[in-house]
Amino acid sequence: MSKQIIILGAGLAGLSAGFHLKAKTKIFEKEARVGGLARTEIIKGFIFDYDGHLLHFKTKYVRQLIDQLLPNQISARKRNAWIYSNDVYTKYPFQANTFGLPLRIVKKCILGMLKPAVKTKDKDTQNLYDWMLDSFGAGITKYFMYPYNYKFWTIPPQELIPDWTVNFVPRVKIKSVLDGAFTLKTKALGYNSEFYYPDKGGIEQLAKAFAKQVKNIYTEHEAQAIDLEQKTVKFSNGRIEEFTRLICSLPMLELKKLIVNKLPENVKTAFLKLRYISIYNLNLGIDRPEISDKHWIYYPEDKFSFFRVGFPMNFSHNTAPRGKSSLYAEVSYSKNKPLDKQGIDKLIHQDLIKAGILRPDDKILVSHVNDIKYAYVVYDHNYRDCLKILNDFLTANNIFPVGRFGKWKYMSMEDVIVDGKLIAQELN
Ligand SMILES: Cc1cc2nc3c(=O)[nH]c(=O)nc-3n(C[C@H](O)[C@H](O)[C@H](O)COP(=O)(O)OP(=O)(O)OC[C@H]3O[C@@H](n4cnc5c(N)ncnc54)[C@H](O)[C@@H]3O)c2cc1C
Repeated sequence: MSKQIIILGAGLAGLSAGFHLKAKTKIFEKEARVGGLARTEIIKGFIFDYDGHLLHFKTKYVRQLIDQLLPNQISARKRNAWIYSNDVYTKYPFQANTFGLPLRIVKKCILGMLKPAVKTKDKDTQNLYDWMLDSFGAGITKYFMYPYNYKFWTIPPQELIPDWTVNFVPRVKIKSVLDGAFTLKTKALGYNSEFYYPDKGGIEQLAKAFAKQVKNIYTEHEAQAIDLEQKTVKFSNGRIEEFTRLICSLPMLELKKLIVNKLPENVKTAFLKLRYISIYNLNLGIDRPEISDKHWIYYPEDKFSFFRVGFPMNFSHNTAPRGKSSLYAEVSYSKNKPLDKQGIDKLIHQDLIKAGILRPDDKILVSHVNDIKYAYVVYDHNYRDCLKILNDFLTANNIFPVGRFGKWKYMSMEDVIVDGKLIAQELN
């Protein structure tokens, strides 16, 4: 057998691995085009990603790489994100911006920060609820962190662990909480205080630019069987490829079905314990200009079906025809909280009117659904142990997981690009 590294999946992780690998490789993708979650749908002049897909940079490397791939084609924007609760808009992040809420709530949020209702500070045993209390106190937990996270994850925060929060939920000092209780003019906090977005064509431009630099991408090749002994992958069209090492960005859970060999019991059990949530993403094109000046709004309360609504028209003016508006509404669901897909579009529409975003007489020009099965991995109390068992098993069999669902980790586009680079360096 010739020494061959194969990559499964041409999302940003697979593309980045292919881009950074020195050895000859082949990338196999089940869809007709590359990009995975970072694809874009263009309908009647409206441009929709798989809900919001904005670039943030922690590393200079990825910033420079993207400049190289999309020279002068992306622009920075200052985040204009809000939370709607108790019939009031407050600035994001909630923990540093309670100004405008009823005074009794503001008071509880401040008092909670001054005297955190800590359950446990022990990082190994803390659940997400303990972490909220420890980080923000009882008020901020009650009025935003708990309801929002429960709604988003569809699972009580007591059943989750906080390992993913470090990159995504900004901690705050009491000074920021006090500043944000008395004025709207606060410093923008968090990883996404500024974001970058392609001037034209949506986020898929990035995947396309990557793909131009990578040889041997085979689309419409769905991996259907992986034989760990023979070291082969069989595809839906009958093609069989041998590999010495397999870089795999497919959802880790899918490997349970794809691997044809008998799995050790502990591995089988670990696969079965992996949990994820899905996002039902309704995109609307509306026949009215400037329905909002915001980038996105969070809805922690259960009286709204969606947890967030975003406005692509404000990411770049080219994402909607002149004089029209666009939005996406996101509803999460899971085995824990199944979704009635029959009635959901109507309910979202009613809730958008209730939230004051749509008017009853608004003409909807485009209504399009992205139903994202694998959207976020669930960090529950089994997570750390299961991942260790599965990673050990896969790497021992020359399968190298990469990317958001390959690694089964809450990762951004930048994170998976770095991850692809790292695996390529390891195998180079
Ligand atoms: C709702 C949502 C919003 C997000 N917003 C942001 C954001 O604003 N900013 C940000 O930086 N990141 C965001 N992300 C994260 C970002 O989308 C991911 O980190 C990144 O795109 C994942 O890339 P990947 O290559 O790891 O996985 P994927 O994009 O999932 O790629 C995996 C690829 O494998 C292919 N595949 C699957 N099964 C098979 C098979 N059997 N055979 C062959 N191919 C197969 C798929 O078709 C896909 O192309 C968001 C993610 C979601 C779900």
